[in-house]
Amino acid sequence: MSYLTPNYSPLNISFVHGSGCYLFDKNDNKYLDCLSGVGVMVLGHSHPKIVNAICKQAKNLIHTSNWYHIDLQEQLAEKLCKLANLNKVFFANSGAEANEAAIKVSRLFANKNNISNPIILTANNGFHGRTMATLSATGNKKVQNKFDPLMSEFINIDFNDLAAIKQYTNNPNVVAIMLEPIQGEHGVIIPNDNYLQNVRKICNENNWLMILDEVQTGIARTGKMFAFEYSNITPDILTIAKGLGCGVPIGACLIDEKYSNLLTINTHGSTFGGNPLVCSAAIAVLNTIESEKIIENVNLISDYFKNQIQTLDQSKIKQIRIKGLMIGIELNIEPKDLMQLALDEKILINTTNNTIRLLPPLIFGKKEVDIVISKISKLIKKL
Ligand SMILES: *Cc1c(COP(=O)(O)O)cnc(C)c1O
Repeated sequence: MSYLTPNYSPLNISFVHGSGCYLFDKNDNKYLDCLSGVGVMVLGHSHPKIVNAICKQAKNLIHTSNWYHIDLQEQLAEKLCKLANLNKVFFANSGAEANEAAIKVSRLFANKNNISNPIILTANNGFHGRTMATLSATGNKKVQNKFDPLMSEFINIDFNDLAAIKQYTNNPNVVAIMLEPIQGEHGVIIPNDNYLQNVRKICNENNWLMILDEVQTGIARTGKMFAFEYSNITPDILTIAKGLGCGVPIGACLIDEKYSNLLTINTHGSTFGGNPLVCSAAIAVLNTIESEKIIENVNLISDYFKNQIQTLDQSKIKQIRIKGLMIGIELNIEPKDLMQLALDEKILINTTNNTIRLLPPLIFGKKEVDIVISKISKLIKKL
């Protein structure tokens, strides 16, 4: 009997410690982690620099509240703004909360422009979180099922379809478009090369906010610090979370100067948001990504993955989609029970929408890729 609500269905295993790309159960069995706690543990488990930053900060000061200055928050915000070419940051505790902040800024933007029925365009099969606003934004009926009434301002358009967006250019109520640069939860769906550039252009022409949800793609996951860098654009609002704290709960909403002042005093807040503990971890994450040349590693290992993945039996594979260390192997058969079968083989993977999704730690080496390929080869033979 469990005292937990039954909304998850965890596999029958629990891990007791982790090191680098590996996790260990109570019998000291070793598992290769190709999921990083859903894209979170970018520097692997128990990275000494992150552990030290957290321990040192915990001994010093964990939390004070946003009623007082938090120097570490200022430091982290400056780093993030310089990396993303944006101007102001609001700190939250999760991806959904970072998106909530972005949605609230859109409301304030609508209010300023006297639009009383604002519309935000979001993509079919996207994912933005599980709070009421973000599940309303999420273009997936499974996430929304039984939660009516949803927030009515979100209209779903097809991802990677510019014509679908252009249908709304003469609708005066549209205030924003919110997209993932690569759809993660739906199985690593990568749009055409010029898609985001054209979305940026449409937003400029129509005075719409361009909101990019990089909760999964951000923090070096795709081989750049942020996936939007591939398109030579900057969004008006950028949300990040997963990899930012390498395991401590932190989300951030970065905003262009033109819109950041909409968040005037008392329009938004969070008790925990950006407290000294999580900021010290996130600063250590960003410093370590730089000092250990993590982005270079992501690109090197990504290329190696692309080569080695070709050695898999292609008859069961419909499409392979890779950007950095965000990897989708779409099968032409249903990968049922594959997460459990993989666990039996001592590797952690995810399946979504007939796709094997891998989000390995960004410190992955060639040795780890070789293990993954041989295990997946064995696993898909069983299907
Ligand atoms: C995971 C995810 C979220 C939600 O993040 P939480 O921290 O679970 O609230 C939002 N958007 C994207 C793209 C995600 O991958």
